[in-house]
Amino acid sequence: MDKKLQDQVAIITGSSSGIGAGCAKEMAKAGATVVINYPVTGAKEMAEAVVADIVANGGSAISYKCDVSKEDEVIQMFKDVVAQYGTVDILVNNAGLQRDAKFVDMTLEQWNFVLSVNLTGQFLCAREAIREFLRRGINSKSKAAGKIICMSSVHEVIPWAGHANYAASKGGVMLMMKTIAQEYAPKKIRINSIAPGAIQTPINKDAWDTSEHLQNLLKLIPERRIGQVEDIGKTAVWLASDDADYVNGTTIFVDGGMTLYPGFEDNG
Ligand code: NAD
Repeated sequence: MDKKLQDQVAIITGSSSGIGAGCAKEMAKAGATVVINYPVTGAKEMAEAVVADIVANGGSAISYKCDVSKEDEVIQMFKDVVAQYGTVDILVNNAGLQRDAKFVDMTLEQWNFVLSVNLTGQFLCAREAIREFLRRGINSKSKAAGKIICMSSVHEVIPWAGHANYAASKGGVMLMMKTIAQEYAPKKIRINSIAPGAIQTPINKDAWDTSEHLQNLLKLIPERRIGQVEDIGKTAVWLASDDADYVNGTTIFVDGGMTLYPGFEDNG
């Protein structure tokens, strides 16, 4: 039997590390050809290591440098991938970063930088993906004309003091995702989000790098374990596959229960 994403082409932004790399490896195992996107020359080696790992395991992948906050670079990435593979079937809008500060101390540069990658980057990539999906329509590889997975966060619903720019970006992703899902569902394009809780990656190293930090973090997670990139990768494969054909415009929380108000656990 064919694998769930057999011969589908997936662009996964920010996939030289963390959750993006995890999604890329799981999607490649499911038969997809994956584009490992990275933003700057300095990340090329890490991207190539993800490609090498995928190829060593019998999968297919290339690396591609593109800053998702730059319109011309995003347009060029989609053009180049379509030229090489004929089309794009899946976009994982994963690239993201933090520049934390108390709100009164937050600079406009910190605000704009986070919004430009986390929200504008997702807008630019989703727009190019949908343009390609509309051009191509449904093909024999999937019931949908195209699939987009936006990497959101539990902070699309949980306020986060000291991270107003990041929380605003993820809240923005939520309504952008729902709006474009509503706009393009009639064209059989499926657009959803994954909202990870605490996943062990470089972005939140300070939260798990000592046992004291980790114990504090685990208090926020009813399952009492930190998430791993495979938890997100496996969800992404399902969401991109025809098994999720009737799932559109929703956020799947993959958070060990972080959104269950764990502060109320001991309230008798
Ligand atoms: P990470 O730092 O390992 O990954 C972020 C990736 O984005 C990096 O590979 C980085 O190179 C890339 N990136 C940054 N700016 C870019 C740009 N302009 N263009 C292209 N790529 C760019 O951290 P991660 O935890 O894997 O984060 C991935 C996504 O998951 C982010 O959107 C993050 O907000 C989200 N997320 C993570 C967690 C968590 O606990 N780790 C929780 C919720 C949401």
